Amino acid sequence: MNTTPPHPRPDKNTYFLLIALAARTRADCLGRRVGAVITREGRVLSTGYNGTPFGMPNCSEGGCHRCSRRDDDRLRGGAYDVCICVHAEQNALLTAARFGQQTLGASLTSTTQPCFGCLKEMLQAGITEVHYLHPWDPAEAYGDQALVAQYAALRARFATFAQVGDPALDTADLFGAFVKR
Ligand SMILES: [Zn+2]
Ligand SMILES: [Zn+2]
Repeated sequence: MNTTPPHPRPDKNTYFLLIALAARTRADCLGRRVGAVITREGRVLSTGYNGTPFGMPNCSEGGCHRCSRRDDDRLRGGAYDVCICVHAEQNALLTAARFGQQTLGASLTSTTQPCFGCLKEMLQAGITEVHYLHPWDPAEAYGDQALVAQYAALRARFATFAQVGDPALDTADLFGAFVKR
């Protein structure tokens, strides 16, 4: 008797990663495009992608002064507090708040390793597990030992903080057939 399933079925972590990747198709930011999904007990609570807040001009239309001046030395790699773009993880948390979904004890999957700011917000919102597709090195990104140590201390607060999936499979045309250019 053949017990092979009729089609391949992703495990739950891969399923959530695929949802985060789908959410990312809606991202509108001149910087890196990111998608995220918050889940609890194996069910989706909310999704998010990065871009400007409701009713504000899109980042790609010049809506974010910081993103549109990435080559300005004063703004490059810093001035995060004046970036009007909301990160994917923040949007997933805020969408959960907007619709009254409890994030305490929930998990988050992002297409990119979460930044310092998103980590502290996820911690404060009660997220316990974090998965991400694309890793990056805080030592390279921050170049400051105290910040690198603080990032490490933040991530250590999560029961799980782990890379998931194969970044090499994330090709430019992942959803190309569905998304008109
Ligand atoms: Zn932006
Ligand atoms: Zn972030």
